[in-house]
Amino acid sequence: MIPGSFAYHRPSSVQDAVSLLAGFGEEGRVLAGGHSLIPMMKLRLAAPANLVDLGGISDLKGIRLDGADIVIGAMTTQHELIGSDLLSRNIPLLRETALQIADPQVRYVGTLGGNVANGDPGNDMPAVMLALNATYQVAGKGGNRRLAARQFYQGAYFTALEPGEIVTAIRIPVPPAGHGSAYQKLKRKIGDYATAAAAVVLTLKGGGEVGSVAIGLTNVGETPLFAEEAARLLVGSTLGPEIVKKAVAAAEKITAPASDRRGTPEYRTKMAGVMMSRALARAAQRARGE
Ligand SMILES: Cc1cc2nc3c(=O)[nH]c(=O)nc-3n(C[C@H](O)[C@H](O)[C@H](O)COP(=O)(O)OP(=O)(O)OC[C@H]3O[C@@H](n4cnc5c(N)ncnc54)[C@H](O)[C@@H]3O)c2cc1C
Repeated sequence: MIPGSFAYHRPSSVQDAVSLLAGFGEEGRVLAGGHSLIPMMKLRLAAPANLVDLGGISDLKGIRLDGADIVIGAMTTQHELIGSDLLSRNIPLLRETALQIADPQVRYVGTLGGNVANGDPGNDMPAVMLALNATYQVAGKGGNRRLAARQFYQGAYFTALEPGEIVTAIRIPVPPAGHGSAYQKLKRKIGDYATAAAAVVLTLKGGGEVGSVAIGLTNVGETPLFAEEAARLLVGSTLGPEIVKKAVAAAEKITAPASDRRGTPEYRTKMAGVMMSRALARAAQRARGE
C-alpha cells in the first residue's frame, strides 16, 4: 500500500506543465485530485517516476459562459460543480451527476478533468459528456487541440490523448432552455461506482414528441457508451412503453459489461436498460416542467 518513489513537480502554468511532461516522456504523469491515480500507485498498478501536479495552475480552474458554451477548467472540483449557480441554471445534469460520485470527501478534491481523462469506464462524468456532446480542450507539446468526447474513449484507461497531453478545459454547448435531463445510477452503497448508470438529455416538441435525445451509459463496457441507435428510435415518439422497450433493447445490445462484484454481465446489461428507461422518464418529466 506504499507507492514507489517518484519526483514531484508543481508547475504554475500550462506551458511549464507541457514542457515538463514532454521531457519526461513515458516517465511522467499528470496529478490532478489524485483520487484515482494515488490508489493505483499505492497498489503499484501505476509507478510514474515523475508526477506533474496541476494544482498550482490557476488558469485550469473556474466555470464560465463563453458564447453558447459553458467552459469548465479541468482542475475544477466535483464539489465546485455542485455549488455553481451557472451550472445549476444551465446544465443541471452536471450537479445531479456530481452528487452521485463517491462521497463529499472525494468530491472536495476529485476534479472534472481527472474524472473525464482517467479513462475508467466506472467514472460517471464521461457518459454525461457523451450525452451533452462535450469537447475537451487539450494542450501538448504540439500545440492546442479540441477532442470530441464522443471520439475520446478508446478502451479501458485508453483515450485519444497523446502522451504528455493535458486536458485543460471541458467545453459544453448549453442545452436549449426547456430541455430535460437526468442521471440514474444503480450502486450497491453510497460511495460505490455504478453497477450501471444512464445519462439522458432531451427536448420535447409542443405535442410532447421527442425533438432530440442523447443517451450515455456508464460502466457497462470498456468505455462509456453512446447509445445512438436507441436515441434514433425515440426521436418523434412520445416515449410510449413499446418504443421505450425497443430503444432499451437497442441500448442493451451495445453493452459488454465485465463480471465483477457488482453483478454478472447479464444483470448489469439489464440494469443499464432499467437506468436508461428511468432516466428517460425523469428527463421527460423535467422537460414538461413537472
Ligand atoms: C472511495 C472513492 C470512490 C469513488 N467513487 C467514484 C464514483 O462513484 N464515480 C466516479 O466517477 N469516480 C469515483 N471516484 C474517482 C474520483 O471521482 C476521482 O477523483 C476521479 O476519477 C479522478 O479525478 P482526480 O482529479 O482525482 O484525478 P487523478 O486521480 O489525479 O488522475 C486520474 C488520471 O487522470 C489523469 N489526469 C488527471 N487530470 C488530467 C488532465 N487534466 N489532463 C490529462 N490527464 C489527467 C492522471 O494522470 C491519471 O491518470 C472515487 C474515488 C474514490 C477514492
